[in-house]
Amino acid sequence: MSAAVALPVGVECILAPNPSLLTGPGTNTYLVADEAAGEVVVIDPGPDISEHLRRVADAVAAHGRATAILVTHGHPDHADGAASLHELLGVPVYAWSRDGVAAMDHPLADGAVVAVGDRNLRALHTPGHRFDHLCFLLEDADALFAGDLIAGVGTVVIAPPEGDLLDYLASLRRLQTLHPRLILPAHGPFLDDPQAVLSYYIAHREERERQVLAGLAAGPRTVGELVSAIYADVSADLHPIAAYSVLAHLYKLEREGRVHRLPATDGQESWSLAT
Ligand SMILES: [Zn+2]
Repeated sequence: MSAAVALPVGVECILAPNPSLLTGPGTNTYLVADEAAGEVVVIDPGPDISEHLRRVADAVAAHGRATAILVTHGHPDHADGAASLHELLGVPVYAWSRDGVAAMDHPLADGAVVAVGDRNLRALHTPGHRFDHLCFLLEDADALFAGDLIAGVGTVVIAPPEGDLLDYLASLRRLQTLHPRLILPAHGPFLDDPQAVLSYYIAHREERERQVLAGLAAGPRTVGELVSAIYADVSADLHPIAAYSVLAHLYKLEREGRVHRLPATDGQESWSLAT
C-alpha cells in the first residue's frame, strides 16, 4: 500500500467535501471514461452538495458525455446526490434497488455489465455492509470499485440489522477469487495490494470471532459484558460502536447455529455457546 497509487487510464477520482468519522476524508466519486468513444460513467455521485456535483459534471464534460450514473449502495454519502446529478447530466441511474436510491431508473443484477464505449464495468452483488451493495469491476484494468466493502484506511463498520457479517465475509471471499490488481474504495486512498487487504479484513474478523467465542466460554454473557472484556484496552467512548461489532458477530454465529440467544431476564438478553 503506497500513498500514491496511480489510477488506470481514463479513471478520475473527485473527492466530495463531506469528511467525518465514518466517511474519512469524504466520498470518492469516480469517473470511468473511454476517451476514444467520448463516453463517461460516474460511480457514486456522493452527497447532494451542488458544488461537488457541479465539479463532477465539469469533469465529465472534459472527457466526453455521460452515459450512466452507478450507485454502489443506498447510503446517503453515496446516493443522495444521484437525483441532482441525474438532472445535471440527463442520464439514467443504476443501482441494486430503489431502497436508499430514490432516483434509480434501472436495477442492476449480479453480473450485469455496463458498457463505457469499449470498456466493461461488471456489477458484483456484494452484500454485508448493506444488503444492496454492488462493487464494479473495470475488466480491462482489473480495477475494483469497492464502495464501502473495503475502506482505504482501517476497516468497515458492519452494524446490524443493516449490516450482515456472514454476507460480508462471503463477499470478501468472493473478491479474493477475482484477483483484482487495484481496489478503489469509496473512502480513503487507492489500494494496490488487494490480496493483502482482503486477507487482513478476513483475519481481523476471524480474530474478533475467536474473542467473542472465548468470552462466552465461561458461561452466558450480555453484549455489554463481552464488549468490556474484549475492548478492555479501548476507550469507553468507543464501546457503543464496539457493541455493534460484537452484535454482528453474535448474529453471524447464531445463523451458523454456534451460539444461542437467551431470553432477557432483566431487560438485557444474553448469549451462550451452543451445546
Ligand atoms: Zn455505506
